[in-house]
Amino acid sequence: MEDENNKSKSTAKSRNTKGGNSKKTNNVNKKLKKDTKEKLLKAKDEEIIIENIQPEPKATTKKSNGIFTKSKLKVIPLGGMNEIGKNITAFEYENEIIVVDCGLAFPEDEMLGVDIVIPDISYLEKNKDKVKAVLITHGHEDHIGAIPYFLKKINVPVYGSKLALGLIKVKLVEHNLEKQTKLVTIEPRQILKFGKFKVEFIRVTHSIADSMAIAITTPVGTILHTGDFKVDYTPIDGGYIDLQRIAELGKEGVTLLLSDSTNVQRPGHTMSEKSVGKELDRLFTNCNKRIIVATFASNVHRMQQIINSAVKFKRKVAVVGRSMVNVLAVSQELGYLNAPEGTIIDIDKIGMYNPDQLVIITTGSQGEPMAALSRMSVGEHKKVQITPDDMIIFSSSAIPGNEKSIGKVIDELERLGAEVIQNQIADVHVSGHACQEELKLMLSLVRPKYFMPVHGEYRFLKQHGQLAVDTGVPKENIFIMENGRILEIDKNTAKLSTQVTSGIVLVDGLGVGDVGNIVLRDRQLLSENGMIIVVISLDRKTAKVVSGPDIVTRGFVYVRENESLIDEIKDVAKKELSKCEEQGIREWSTIKTRVRESLIKYIYSKTKRQPMILPILMDVDMDKKI
Ligand SMILES: [Zn+2]
Ligand SMILES: [Zn+2]
Repeated sequence: MEDENNKSKSTAKSRNTKGGNSKKTNNVNKKLKKDTKEKLLKAKDEEIIIENIQPEPKATTKKSNGIFTKSKLKVIPLGGMNEIGKNITAFEYENEIIVVDCGLAFPEDEMLGVDIVIPDISYLEKNKDKVKAVLITHGHEDHIGAIPYFLKKINVPVYGSKLALGLIKVKLVEHNLEKQTKLVTIEPRQILKFGKFKVEFIRVTHSIADSMAIAITTPVGTILHTGDFKVDYTPIDGGYIDLQRIAELGKEGVTLLLSDSTNVQRPGHTMSEKSVGKELDRLFTNCNKRIIVATFASNVHRMQQIINSAVKFKRKVAVVGRSMVNVLAVSQELGYLNAPEGTIIDIDKIGMYNPDQLVIITTGSQGEPMAALSRMSVGEHKKVQITPDDMIIFSSSAIPGNEKSIGKVIDELERLGAEVIQNQIADVHVSGHACQEELKLMLSLVRPKYFMPVHGEYRFLKQHGQLAVDTGVPKENIFIMENGRILEIDKNTAKLSTQVTSGIVLVDGLGVGDVGNIVLRDRQLLSENGMIIVVISLDRKTAKVVSGPDIVTRGFVYVRENESLIDEIKDVAKKELSKCEEQGIREWSTIKTRVRESLIKYIYSKTKRQPMILPILMDVDMDKKI
């Protein structure tokens, strides 16, 4: 999910390639049937797990005689198009739907008070009975973050690698869902069956261990979804990208490829994660300061490399930031992070060591105001105080839009005397996503008939489409999608079809979807202009003013220095009320509207501000008053 993007142009040459489905002989099919018969008999429900790769059975489709149409595969991205975040794609064939990933996005600046943004899955809710499973490519938030919300509506098994499921489990516990959820751990090259779907997980490299591409074989052909990937030939955990299997699939024939577009604007090849380790070692050498490394909590590989360097230079490691601590705990427990006994210490123990014996790994590499590093930079972190004895390494790159807040944090850190090392100064970060050459490699190995760029803003998808054309995919076979749009594929054709409901659901605290456009507009108004409350007591019968108007303001002006303005506002309200009385208006809603409108006009003419104005009418029964 991380990484910035540079502008550049593809220089690839055109090549003529064609994809399609390979033919299988009847003999192979007979053998397959015999081999798998036993397993099929034993398997329950529609979910069958077969350990070895089997050739796909010959596709069967209804005969088309002009009256009967063949069944079509529907590919429906419900998130992840024209954005980086909340990735989710549904694959529907006849009575079955499988879903790949279910991630969250972080709120935009104007979504005040919103914690996270999740995809609208009402289409899947409507077709609940068809949904068979959620398949997870890897454990990043933009791929797993909305799972608890999904499962509350549609409770189906979740399939993913050990690490991805470990991270999902933390969320399920938070949402009290761990007992009712079925999590199924998958291995690379494992094959699952869901009705007419056959699914295979294929290992790829990315910035988190156990990342998978997913091949989905259907009666109309094979679909390959790369998930997030880069081509790292020397991964630090030895989890090599299974280019061999990807090429095999390409040879067998891939109908549609969905591929990661995050870094499509960058030419060349993303460096191996290993290169960061070397750079960290160089910075650690002869450093007698305390070292603080800020990075993405989700980058388990990076955490491992920081720990490796710390061990090499005999330093202890402490971790701060809630998400960082969570990921560390899960990764360590599941064996994805290795640190010799005693290397990782509690943050409370850092006082027992000299600066040159310590490394602190922290969140906040994007300048997020609430993250640990930002709090350290303004002296508000309870456990870590920044001094000139600190070297702070930003082992990350700026996500576009965050440059300003990152700059602010760096300024503060330097003001406290710390030395700050950024990506521009040293190669302390590499991306987890494929650059142009890797994307072309993927396209060339797979040679898909149709291509759908995913995981990116519109311009990224567009550029990735062009890259595909350069590698030989016909232009008319490229589908630049939007969320909710259906791509229908049959044996011979693929075409865009109707749109299903899609969009965003805002999560604020415990509320899911209760904050909509109207609430956001009010929050924006309040945050920008403040609020004026006009309290008026009226006689229930005559609608005559009994007391007031009283004026209460918040976030509008400093009342003590603006008493005359407040008095004027009071007068305007009073005048409008007597006008209403003269005209015999007794309708409370009309009185409210008239007061509000007169004040809007007056306040704007005086201050050029538009605070929210709330007239509150209270009724008083004068008969009962003594
Ligand atoms: Zn992602
Ligand atoms: Zn990712």
